[in-house]
Amino acid sequence: MATIIPLTDVRATANPAARRAALDAFVRDAALAPSAPAGPIADTRGRRLNDLRISVTDRCNFRCVYCMPRDVFDADYHFLPHAELLTFEEIARVARIFVDQGVAKVRLTGGEPLLRRNVERLVEMLARIGDIDLTLTTNGALLAKKARSLADAGLTRVTVSLDSLDDATFRAMNDADFPVAKVLEGIDAAAAAGLAPIKINMVVKRGMNETSIVPIARHFKGTGHIVRFIEFMDVGATNGWRMDDVVPAAEVVRTIAAEFPLVTADANYEGEVAQRWRYRDGSGEIGVIASVTQAFCRDCTRARLSTDGKLYTCLFASDGYDLRTLVRGGFDDSQIGNAIQAIWRQRGDRYSEIRTANTARVPKVEMSYIGG
Ligand code: SAM
Repeated sequence: MATIIPLTDVRATANPAARRAALDAFVRDAALAPSAPAGPIADTRGRRLNDLRISVTDRCNFRCVYCMPRDVFDADYHFLPHAELLTFEEIARVARIFVDQGVAKVRLTGGEPLLRRNVERLVEMLARIGDIDLTLTTNGALLAKKARSLADAGLTRVTVSLDSLDDATFRAMNDADFPVAKVLEGIDAAAAAGLAPIKINMVVKRGMNETSIVPIARHFKGTGHIVRFIEFMDVGATNGWRMDDVVPAAEVVRTIAAEFPLVTADANYEGEVAQRWRYRDGSGEIGVIASVTQAFCRDCTRARLSTDGKLYTCLFASDGYDLRTLVRGGFDDSQIGNAIQAIWRQRGDRYSEIRTANTARVPKVEMSYIGG
């Protein structure tokens, strides 16, 4: 008898335990349904599955105030035990299945991905999958040490988070007393290793680092590195997000343009999250990621695989679909592919478009666990 796959979003069920059971049943039924051919798939809004972000650890050596506030992520915080993490073999297998379903871009993230021991080995395994853009987002703390081995393992590019060039501001934002000079060393090492073009992510939080916008733009202007200014987002449930703390991307652009004239640039590809601006004098470009003030859900082609193997179809989701049970439960690749297809086909997420002060309070998974 054919398995019936519900077409409604099973995450809408109110009771958490019932919701978990419904999600698990959905994944299992989808895996066991007659196989559909692998290949590009679209969700209920016509969005293709193009990108996979993989969180390789939920741990981080920073305690950025907007991401992993120290009073929550303290010595008593329960990070995932090692046995819960997908192994490198499991990650590579799942990634390969995603690529069969049309994914062309894979990003390793976390937590801090460079904290995962021997992450270069994973990079090597993923690079062997074939023609994919393979990149990684890091806070840069360990990059000076690892840039060369990551490049040798097959990493294509790197994105480095850097919220200020002012050492006191940077230390206050990472809340780990980490000096900015070490991150700059990491960026130089990445450039020397050919992990370019390097993107620099700066989260702008009102009252913390607006005065760092122009200095960061100035520092990287003409280097070939691309700074992207990110609006502070209501990810997770612990960062005390308030709309008042968001510096709108339009304000960032006005601030930079007052110093260095800018002209708009076209997106590099459909679904690019950053709006691009070029310096009028031809010395490079910047990007702004306006996830709060100008939501880009309609172009979102990203899936996220959490550290413990749950698939999330939105950065602001509360629940994920457990693929690890399939991976460890003897399901074959085409069955796991079936589940991925069914999950993506029923996706209707558009959180940023419907954000209100109330939705901002709904419990959501932490970015460190789901992958930034
Ligand atoms: N540890 C790595 C790093 O620092 O780049 C990777 C993980 S981190 C969660 C990925 C990106 O998410 C970083 O650029 C970080 O600044 C950004 N991020 C974290 N919390 C954010 C928030 N509340 N709003 C906007 N961006 C955020």
